[in-house]
Amino acid sequence: MRPFTYALAADAPAAVRAATVPADAHVRAPVQLMGGGTTLLDLMKLDVMRPETVVDITPLATGHYGNIEATAQGLRLGALVRMSDAAEDKAVVRDYPVIAQSLGLAASQQLRNMARLGGNALQRTRCNYFRDTSYAQCNKRNPGSGCAAIDGFNRLHAVLGVSDACIAHYPGDFAQALIALDATVEILGSSGARSIRFADLHRLPGSTPHIETSLAPGELITAYVVPAGPWTRRSVYTKVRDRESYAFALASAAVALDMDGATVRSARIALGGVAAVPWRAKEAEALLAGKPLDEAAATKAADAAFAGAKTHTHNAYKVPLGKATLVRALLTAQAMPAPAAQERKV
Ligand code: SF4
Repeated sequence: MRPFTYALAADAPAAVRAATVPADAHVRAPVQLMGGGTTLLDLMKLDVMRPETVVDITPLATGHYGNIEATAQGLRLGALVRMSDAAEDKAVVRDYPVIAQSLGLAASQQLRNMARLGGNALQRTRCNYFRDTSYAQCNKRNPGSGCAAIDGFNRLHAVLGVSDACIAHYPGDFAQALIALDATVEILGSSGARSIRFADLHRLPGSTPHIETSLAPGELITAYVVPAGPWTRRSVYTKVRDRESYAFALASAAVALDMDGATVRSARIALGGVAAVPWRAKEAEALLAGKPLDEAAATKAADAAFAGAKTHTHNAYKVPLGKATLVRALLTAQAMPAPAAQERKV
């Protein structure tokens, strides 16, 4: 690991001031904010990320940024809440099971005890060519250098949202729950606070895969806000991986259903492990709305979700696997007991 300067944040504005430095992308800035450090330190050891200064923001966890707030209006998750605390929180487990499950199925217990929600949604791809600096060709790490994965070993890579410059997959789980539930992201930057849709946080690779998010250098995620709705309790996260104990998703699906008896009023669907970014499957949602949900309808929706898939030499299996994962998630959510009428405890 290269030498770097370590600084402890006194407060959020000071952390933002310290990290607001010129850079062509948030993740390439020479000053990086660090929560649990489970992605950043990993990539620094691999020499993939090379910040000159790391600002530790964990002291901010004792305040508003470290709280879980569940009200009748929805759920606010502070960015410095530990993954394990959110996964085990009673209100999250009861009213937002897709969030609790996505966190509980991610990483190991040790990592969940360290990693914070803000950084978790920003975790970076597991593409081996990205993580191994002996490969020169990686447009995400070295813009303009090419992509070793396109003609290389691409078993883990994405089939949705890819470009000719990058086919890397987004590896997280929690993000799929957030995008399915129409979450928003609260952000603090040098020009103040702003809020964006979670769906606008991650950027498709296009011709600039090194620009992964819409965050500017120095901007700090402070919270995720999830609106309440009749669909949040009837929600589920299904994940398929190589090892059941601890592995990234080969395919996953976050599903939340609002049902009127056997008929779908509205479906919210996100896919993981198969796409370049957390992926909302709007075509599948549209097919399900207003219709009875059975295996045939779920299969049709899954076909629509993957209609635009683009496969490479080793990852074509992700299309049938992703479809089967979504069908299973839809039928699991359908079989859940009808949510009691909004008796949310606060
Ligand atoms: Fe780099 Fe993306 Fe290609 Fe992987 S898929 S080598 S991250 S450009």
